Amino acid sequence: MGGKNEHFTALALAAGRAYMRGIQTGSGGNLSCRGPGDNTMTVKASGGSFAEVSAAGESLVVTDLYGKPLPGESGKPTREFVLHGLLYRLLPELGGIMHCHSPWSIAWAFDHDFLPALTLHVQLKFGCDIPVVNVLSPMVREEDAPLVEAAVKNNPRPPAFILRAHGVVALGKNVVEAEHNAELVEETAQIALLRDFSERLSNRR
Ligand SMILES: [Zn+2]
Repeated sequence: MGGKNEHFTALALAAGRAYMRGIQTGSGGNLSCRGPGDNTMTVKASGGSFAEVSAAGESLVVTDLYGKPLPGESGKPTREFVLHGLLYRLLPELGGIMHCHSPWSIAWAFDHDFLPALTLHVQLKFGCDIPVVNVLSPMVREEDAPLVEAAVKNNPRPPAFILRAHGVVALGKNVVEAEHNAELVEETAQIALLRDFSERLSNRR
């Protein structure tokens, strides 16, 4: 499972990459990894930007799987701690989560109930469509647990889901894989919208 420093390094890498790629801007979004140990998680602190997450542990807080900081931790965990803790409790194999407000995915999910696995690459990587989850709150609450559970329970290794009018939640065996999955969801949503546009153009001819 790795030690605290190893987790900080992976979280800084994933956060930096998401920020650099533009799948998360400003101070939105959050990410986490499981550990140290099976029953804790290291999550982004509330209010900070992905750009501030460092391998030295800045903007990161270690909590239990219900968002309670471990003794000695300073800082407050992301307001999305319920989502992170819930997923680690539901999925024993899950090692990392990237949640970001990437625009193509959000745009697609307003009017669709899933994002189809359109390209050969996403079929190979994910092998499934990406469900859209209808949590109508700016953050996932304990009472939303059944909706989240329904989105992931039939897949032994769910790669991601999209929260309607909100953003992507990408999952992985570690947080770097979760970040890559978030990028792939965003790329797929962009292709889905461009394909839709292309079809409309060709139907007009
Ligand atoms: Zn969010």
